[in-house]
Amino acid sequence: MNNIAYLSLGSNLGDRLDYLKSAIQALDSHPDIKVASTSSVYETDPVGYTDQGKFLNLAVKIETSLGAEALLDTCLNIEKSLGRVREIKWGPRTIDLDILLYNNENIETDRLVIPHPRMHERLFVLIPILEIDPFLKIPTNDKPLIDLIEQIPNKKGVRLWKQTSGEDAYAHFGS
Ligand code: ATP
Ligand code: CA
Ligand code: CA
Repeated sequence: MNNIAYLSLGSNLGDRLDYLKSAIQALDSHPDIKVASTSSVYETDPVGYTDQGKFLNLAVKIETSLGAEALLDTCLNIEKSLGRVREIKWGPRTIDLDILLYNNENIETDRLVIPHPRMHERLFVLIPILEIDPFLKIPTNDKPLIDLIEQIPNKKGVRLWKQTSGEDAYAHFGS
């Protein structure tokens, strides 16, 4: 388990919390993955395609002996096993697992880009990872997480929904 990765999980269909829990359980029960920390759960307004239900989002830090491509395959398999169907781009989904970071690596293949290219502009990603590791560095961006968060407007779109650890990360930002 010599690699560290951060993943973003989201659900906006059916029993959203149950899908998140099932995905975390599926990750942790994989022989080559250990879930090291889990953020609180946040309820977030949809971005991109806005005519859909609110999301529950969280982030997890994992240790893994899988390479990045194998980790992606595992994430896609978990999505499939939890009933994910791809219809509308950025549309409703039972579960989405994105790889945000894999060690400090920069990876760009046809099917995998790490760091996740949109992570630095997404409050629903940055706030949960800030909670797990406030000093985390994104290899492709010089700014600390807190500065990236500060420059994104409309922080009301991400609300603490179920606190699972630590203090209320959202309390630091107001509206
Ligand atoms: P977004 O990537 O903007 O969050 P999305 O999660 O809705 O959008 P998906 O339909 O879930 O997009 O994924 C499409 C493809 O993106 C996947 O099949 C995968 O090959 C590719 N992909 C590229 N980089 C990553 C990454 N870092 N994590 C997960 N998937 C990735
Ligand atoms: Ca996504
Ligand atoms: Ca995805």
